[in-house]
Amino acid sequence: MVVPVGGLGRIGMNWTLYGHDGRWILVDAGIAFPEDRSGKVDAFIPDPETLRRVVGRIDALVVTHAHEDHIGAIQYVFPRVLSCPIWATPFASAAISRRLEEAGTLDEADLRTFPVGGAFRIGSFAIRSIRLTHSVPEAVALALATPAGTVLHTGDFKLDPTPLIGGPTDLEAIHALGNAGLLAMVGDSTNAERDLPVTSEAQVRDSLRRIFQSRAGTVVVCCFGTNVVRAMSAVDAARSTGRQVALAGRSLRVHAEVAEQLGLVDTQDILAEPSHLRGLDRREMALVCTGTQGEENAVLARLAGGKDWRLPQLGLGDTLVMSSSAIPGNAEAIERVLAPLRSRGVEILTRDDAPEGLTVHVSGHAGRAELATMHRHARPRFVIPVHGTEAHLQAHAALARDCGAEEAPVGTAGEALAVSVNGVKRLGRIEIPVLGVRRDGGILAVRASKPVPRAEELGRAPGIAPSEAHRSRPRA
Ligand SMILES: [Zn+2]
Ligand SMILES: [Zn+2]
Repeated sequence: MVVPVGGLGRIGMNWTLYGHDGRWILVDAGIAFPEDRSGKVDAFIPDPETLRRVVGRIDALVVTHAHEDHIGAIQYVFPRVLSCPIWATPFASAAISRRLEEAGTLDEADLRTFPVGGAFRIGSFAIRSIRLTHSVPEAVALALATPAGTVLHTGDFKLDPTPLIGGPTDLEAIHALGNAGLLAMVGDSTNAERDLPVTSEAQVRDSLRRIFQSRAGTVVVCCFGTNVVRAMSAVDAARSTGRQVALAGRSLRVHAEVAEQLGLVDTQDILAEPSHLRGLDRREMALVCTGTQGEENAVLARLAGGKDWRLPQLGLGDTLVMSSSAIPGNAEAIERVLAPLRSRGVEILTRDDAPEGLTVHVSGHAGRAELATMHRHARPRFVIPVHGTEAHLQAHAALARDCGAEEAPVGTAGEALAVSVNGVKRLGRIEIPVLGVRRDGGILAVRASKPVPRAEELGRAPGIAPSEAHRSRPRA
């Protein structure tokens, strides 16, 4: 049984329950960001108490990658509200342990790591992780095998041929799953509506080098704090043009440090503090910073304010590269931050208005062509689109059927789907309240909840309905 708890019909809050034979695992525990950033609520999470009432015990949380929409809820919920081992790759595990440390619960947590490509068993599930490319190091897909068949949970992915850290998406492993007969695929739908070319981090690295070479002033690159590869591409461009470079922004520094400790990157000649850039000539300075979404307290907003003595003063002749995309709803906040920089004459390059031939940002999610490639290798009988708005999910379902899936039902959050060789059956919907949480750990709003049915009451057969062995069905 598959219960997408969140991530359907909205962006964020990716939690997916998998059950078999009365045993349950949870894949990912992320947050959704509020559209109103005025500060009452920092994030939304599904009510963990309700999940516990529905399924009883959860054997483990397994994490696909270290993005907020996949791990951001862990520090609010684990290990005190939900208590079970948390499995993650070394990078994600290190990111999670920092959060638990801050929450003061690291000692109580049972954090376990698996290598990218590693296999392990939890309860009824034999789990294998498969290397993917995305916009954070060590993202994986999970092949979840039970006697009822194998389900591939893709996590967030793209097919970057030259990801710069780690190898490309392991399509051979996915093809092998297809050869053995894949019952279902639960897959990323983010860009299912978009015809995108296959893009790579190497393109961005090359463009950043060209930008750094051709600009005479200070160059600032603004990117997501988790995008270690992107930050290191900017560092590399700075080095190659004789600039001193610093990282500014907590998330950026934490993730770079974790990657350094794991031997994924070399941060040796990055300045310890942005303030160490002071006194240098403008053409000798570079900064990598956070604040891509126009967040009020982030480094980019402080740079724009021009009043933080630790940061370079930007003006005519300097360049800001927005190496990111705007999360829907944030365009205005971003423009508010960029306006003062523009008026001071700073050149601003964004994904949409960079000069011809320069790629300052690539998406971390597969466009339609890459999704189709994934489907053709995996050859699942059934596809459950997740990670997207209703339109994304519908587009992914249509694409899945074009690629040969027998069924591709679009569910809603909380809907319990029984997957068996006979098809995907909708068992019912669990009303899961959404809670607002604050960074200080406070839980603010609890929406009244209807009585919650236990998993067994949703259908006669909890678990991915066991039946005759799934026959192998290779397609050309
Ligand atoms: Zn995601
Ligand atoms: Zn992601």
